[in-house]
Amino acid sequence: MMAASALAQQPAAHHWAIVLHGGAGTIERASMTPAREAAYRASLAQAIEAGAHVLDRGGSSLDAVEAAIRILEDDPLFNAGRGSDFAADGRNEMDAAIMDGSNLKAGAVGDVTRTRHPISLARAVMEKSPHVFLVGEGADAFSVYAGLEQADPSFFFTERRWQDLVRELKREGLPIPPRPAGAPPPPAVPAAEMESPDEHKYGTVGVVALDRAGNLAAGTSTGGTNAKRWGRVGDSPLIGAGTYASNKSCAVSATGTGEYFIRLTVARTVCALVEYKGLALQAAVDEVIHKEVTGLNGDGGVIAVAPDGQMAWSFNTAGMYRAKLAEGGKLEIGIYNDEP
Ligand code: ASP
Repeated sequence: MMAASALAQQPAAHHWAIVLHGGAGTIERASMTPAREAAYRASLAQAIEAGAHVLDRGGSSLDAVEAAIRILEDDPLFNAGRGSDFAADGRNEMDAAIMDGSNLKAGAVGDVTRTRHPISLARAVMEKSPHVFLVGEGADAFSVYAGLEQADPSFFFTERRWQDLVRELKREGLPIPPRPAGAPPPPAVPAAEMESPDEHKYGTVGVVALDRAGNLAAGTSTGGTNAKRWGRVGDSPLIGAGTYASNKSCAVSATGTGEYFIRLTVARTVCALVEYKGLALQAAVDEVIHKEVTGLNGDGGVIAVAPDGQMAWSFNTAGMYRAKLAEGGKLEIGIYNDEP
């Protein structure tokens, strides 16, 4: 039996909480079919439930973040892993980061091309290397070394994102690269959904979680932005810009046009407002999104969770795919900006 003094030293049990995003942007009811909307809602629910399941079994926030993101990376609806946007040279270059709020350890990768689950590669950088951030060929090579599942670049190909690339390059008057080797032949008649506008530009995924031990974690994974210059890295894998977690303040994952989020170090700024100014989490995310990001004419949003279980999201776009769930609470899913 445990002595009373030992019992007194046990940390107070925390109720777990998890928040997830699947990208922000011009996501409007008018450009969404009921079937597509239902598919997004189902995917968001599946991913957050996978993370919640880990937390409910007493698993760590890091494991929950990774589990939920792996599902979204495999889901072609989202711009991460399979279904990633293409760079202007016709390749998928993916970025991801993960951070452990309990010790500030972090791992990140930029412009990786062959790892089925970039979030797991980010975690491997954190746990199996002395570094925080690996990019390009070196990151691809480290993925093999770390024993992660490899995928042919054509695995990440989706017709929908390819058509987004072709449309954007035409609009900019830029050369259209050949269809990637191994991609399926082009459809005879483009599906109606490929004709729909902007919405596809987004779809980065991110998850933040609090576990029962009171530890926070954040993760983000993306194919970047449509028709980006190859070699470009966005905010998602930059610790402090698109991803940050500290048990002293909060865990944050961002989505939006990364260049603004980098310049404003959005994720760390949210945490700094909580840590040094004592702002409530919702006030902190609103301040950074609606004052700072909007003030620079940037677009996007963030999700966040704090050690006391506060959950928050904020975005200045027409929509952001999002979901939240806390122990004993009800699952909330939203897409448009007129939903709670
Ligand atoms: N933030 C991502 C990037 O700039 C894109 C997005 O979230 O839609 O790479």
